Amino acid sequence: MKIKLACPLQQDSIVDGEGIRTVIWTQGCAHKCQGCHNPQTHDFNKGYEIDIEDIKKAILQLNKQDGITLSGGDPFFQAEASKEIAKFCKEQGLSVWAYTGFTYERLSEMMEYRKDIRGLMENIDVLIDGKFEQDERSLNLKFRGSKNQRVIDVKESMQNGCTVEIEKYNQENNYIGYDELAKEKEYLYI
Ligand code: SF4
Repeated sequence: MKIKLACPLQQDSIVDGEGIRTVIWTQGCAHKCQGCHNPQTHDFNKGYEIDIEDIKKAILQLNKQDGITLSGGDPFFQAEASKEIAKFCKEQGLSVWAYTGFTYERLSEMMEYRKDIRGLMENIDVLIDGKFEQDERSLNLKFRGSKNQRVIDVKESMQNGCTVEIEKYNQENNYIGYDELAKEKEYLYI
C-alpha cells in the first residue's frame, strides 16, 4: 500500500504535539481553510508516493521520539494508509497524534460507514480537529492555530460516545514561548 506525502518525515518537532515527535506530512486536503499555513499540501496531484513498508522502516530507525504526528494536508483523505502507519506506530510504543480539518463529530458520523476512518481513529491517541478559522486565530494556543480547534482524547471520546477535550491543552494562554521551547529542546538533548 502507498501513501502520498508532501515531504520526507520530519523528526524532532516540539510544536506538533506533546514531547518530541516525528511529523508525517500527508499530501492532499480539500478543506480550503483561509490562511492555511501549508497550501502546498492541498493538491492531491502533487507530492510523491511512498510505500507504507518504507515508512515503517524509517519509523524503526527513529531515535528519541515520543511519537508521531499525522498532519498535512489532511491524513483522513488517505485514511486506510494513515491507519496502517498509526497502527504500526502504536505497536512500537509510539503515541499517535493527528491533525484534521474535519470535526470529531463529522468523523464519528463517517465511522459508521467507513471502516478505514474507524480504523484510523482507533489508532489515534490525540486528535486536533476542525478547520483553521482566521477569525478565531490566536497565538495563545498550544498545538492549534484557532480557538475553534480542539485537542481531543480519542479513546475517551470513542468510549463515552461524546467529544472529550483535553482541558490542559484547550485553555488559552498556555502557549509555550520560544525561549521556553528552546530551553526544553536543549534540556532534552543534554
Ligand atoms: S485542514 Fe489543515 S491543511 Fe487543510 S486547508 Fe485547513 S489548515 Fe490547511
